Amino acid sequence: MRILRTIDEVRSAIAAARVNGDSIGLVPTMGAFHEGHLSLMRAARAAHDLVVVSLFVNPTQFGQNEDLGSYPRDEARDAALADAEGIDILFVPAADEIYPDGFATTIHVSGVTDVLCGASRGPRHFDGVATVVAKLFAIVAPDAAFFGQKDAQQVLVVRRLVRDLNLPVEVVACPIVREPDGLAMSSRNIYLDADARERATALNRALTAADDAAGAGARDAGEILAAARAILDAAGVDPEYLELRDADDLREVARVDGDALLAVAARVGAARLIDNHILRGGA
Ligand code: AMP
Repeated sequence: MRILRTIDEVRSAIAAARVNGDSIGLVPTMGAFHEGHLSLMRAARAAHDLVVVSLFVNPTQFGQNEDLGSYPRDEARDAALADAEGIDILFVPAADEIYPDGFATTIHVSGVTDVLCGASRGPRHFDGVATVVAKLFAIVAPDAAFFGQKDAQQVLVVRRLVRDLNLPVEVVACPIVREPDGLAMSSRNIYLDADARERATALNRALTAADDAAGAGARDAGEILAAARAILDAAGVDPEYLELRDADDLREVARVDGDALLAVAARVGAARLIDNHILRGGA
């Protein structure tokens, strides 16, 4: 595996691969790898000749009071894990390689960014995501890019970006990878002390309770959400949001008839956690 730090180096490597007729898969990450990240790398590795993983803690997607300064960083460990997955290139740019002096362009995807994390973290979060993803697509020019369904809204933002700007990139969403007790894996789980780690399991248990209610025939959003909220209440978890929305356009749904995204965000101890399930209303 090659570790590249400049855009020029990545462009040269990509140009050489294209001459060979290689297909290219990209996995954008902020590092602190866990099995969730590794699952994306495996999916990319299985489908493409050359796999690029980017490792960049993107400052523009963090709010002022968020954890940019304390976000876990361990490049050597991440490089060893990516290497073990057979990744070809780990792209680790410095912040000023991506945002040089005078950088003045922001991509704003409207609509799907107005709700959920766009509302709770502020609109600049997804502007930062859309801008850095567009840049990575321009730098790597991948055939496909791999994202986790853990960040369901991010997947929708990237799909909208790709569609609206006619970017020739297939967006592949991979399933959420969980700890044995159901907690969705996240780089931020290291912020959880023992008590918070235990309470954090309430997120997936709440989503599962809502799933069960829908599975038992409940269609009313209020009824389904109440089943989830009862679990959060019992664990003393007060969500930033707990909402049922259309899985494609994030419109609020009053009844679950098609696929609905049940999404939760909550501060648990020192960590802000998110999780989601897709409820299959038609089933
Ligand atoms: P991050 O480094 O947190 O920005 O995540 C990089 C990519 O990994 C994103 O596409 C995330 O959605 C994905 N990811 C993070 N956690 C998980 C998980 N538990 N399961 C699947 N994908 C994940």
